[in-house]
Amino acid sequence: MSALHDPPEFRTQLRAWLESTDLTPPPEDCLEAHLHQFARVQRALYEAGWSRYGWPEHAGGLGGPAMLRAIVGEEVVGQRLVEPGPYSMLEVLAPTMIDYATPELAAEMVPKLLSGKELWCQGFSEPGSGSDLASLTTRAVPRGDQWVINGQKVWTSFAQYAQRCILLTRTGGAETPNHQAITAFFVDTDTPGIDVRPLRTMHGVDEFCEVYFDDVVVDGSRMLGKPGDGWQLAMDLLPYERSTCFWQRIAYLYSRFDALIAEVKRQGAAVDNDLGAVYLALHTLRCRSRATQHRLADGHRLGPDTSVDKVLLASAEQLLYDTARDLLPGVIELDEGEWRAEYLYSRAATIYGGTAEVQRNIIARRLLDLPKE
Ligand SMILES: Cc1cc2nc3c(=O)[nH]c(=O)nc-3n(C[C@H](O)[C@H](O)[C@H](O)COP(=O)(O)OP(=O)(O)OC[C@H]3O[C@@H](n4cnc5c(N)ncnc54)[C@H](O)[C@@H]3O)c2cc1C
Repeated sequence: MSALHDPPEFRTQLRAWLESTDLTPPPEDCLEAHLHQFARVQRALYEAGWSRYGWPEHAGGLGGPAMLRAIVGEEVVGQRLVEPGPYSMLEVLAPTMIDYATPELAAEMVPKLLSGKELWCQGFSEPGSGSDLASLTTRAVPRGDQWVINGQKVWTSFAQYAQRCILLTRTGGAETPNHQAITAFFVDTDTPGIDVRPLRTMHGVDEFCEVYFDDVVVDGSRMLGKPGDGWQLAMDLLPYERSTCFWQRIAYLYSRFDALIAEVKRQGAAVDNDLGAVYLALHTLRCRSRATQHRLADGHRLGPDTSVDKVLLASAEQLLYDTARDLLPGVIELDEGEWRAEYLYSRAATIYGGTAEVQRNIIARRLLDLPKE
């Protein structure tokens, strides 16, 4: 095993490299600046090899366990060199491409994402299909070697900046069961017929979009897997989203926890029990996430058990910002600063990647074997 495939040694050397490399974020606090910084950091990490570890060699990586990716995410997001949102797209979408694209397409495309040359988006949700994703209606119809796509996606994060989209479509007829009727495509977002309209979130950022597809022609070679594999692709994405991807968000939350303690002390307030409760929630989450990553590394198939990780993440994140609201009077209600924006964004934690209610239902039915209400 290469010394750099050993996680502790990898972390030591990565930290030394980060210390000797100036990747200081720009002072501007807006989405464009965050995405520019993300591309800059990814390019530097890729050129130095760091962002290639933990990814397979046939897709432009340098091999080694997935745990190495978690370490890179923890360091760069935990040190706030990049924001967690754009970073998470990489951890969610690249493994899906590696598992489902043809080897040639994965070898061509994945390095573009790892190196920060491109940003990709995830076109799953639709106006009538979020929690009930299998009911999606964006349709792909075959025409020779090509497919013609019509329909609409919504809440597609970063679509206005993305060069590609992993898109779920319906290809089966009315007689096909929902879970066998969905097919995924890897679509260039500059294809004629695609119209991207940004939506403003309540924290004041055009973070996600509506995406319209009007007779969009996609080559059959861009299908991910076979016709009908789309539902399985969506299910297979979850273990990635809830392992290495969560790990970097947890690192980010810890950094904000440290910032909250510093701010509370600066204001002369007491560091009290409430902060203890936040620490406990973060620590529980981190322990759970660590165990999840080890189970993934040991070859276990992750399933409904990751709903526990999702509930813990959303609860810890919201508790952290609720506590910030309580301990920093007026900062969330009256200031336009980052605490307010982050507080508002934390409300989305119980929605994106599976709502809290749906996760709790999954835990009740599939882990605890409880009956429907
Ligand atoms: C910040 C953010 C970024 C996002 N980025 C993306 C993205 O990049 N790509 C993408 O495809 N999507 C994205 N989404 C969309 C996200 O996946 C959906 O919002 C989510 O799946 C919920 O779907 P919905 O909004 O349609 O709500 P609905 O499914 O309509 O749910 C509405 C309410 O009903 C409850 N509910 C629904 N079904 C049940 C049930 N069976 N039992 C109990 N309660 C239920 C829900 O918990 C919720 O409270 C993003 C969302 C957010 C907030």
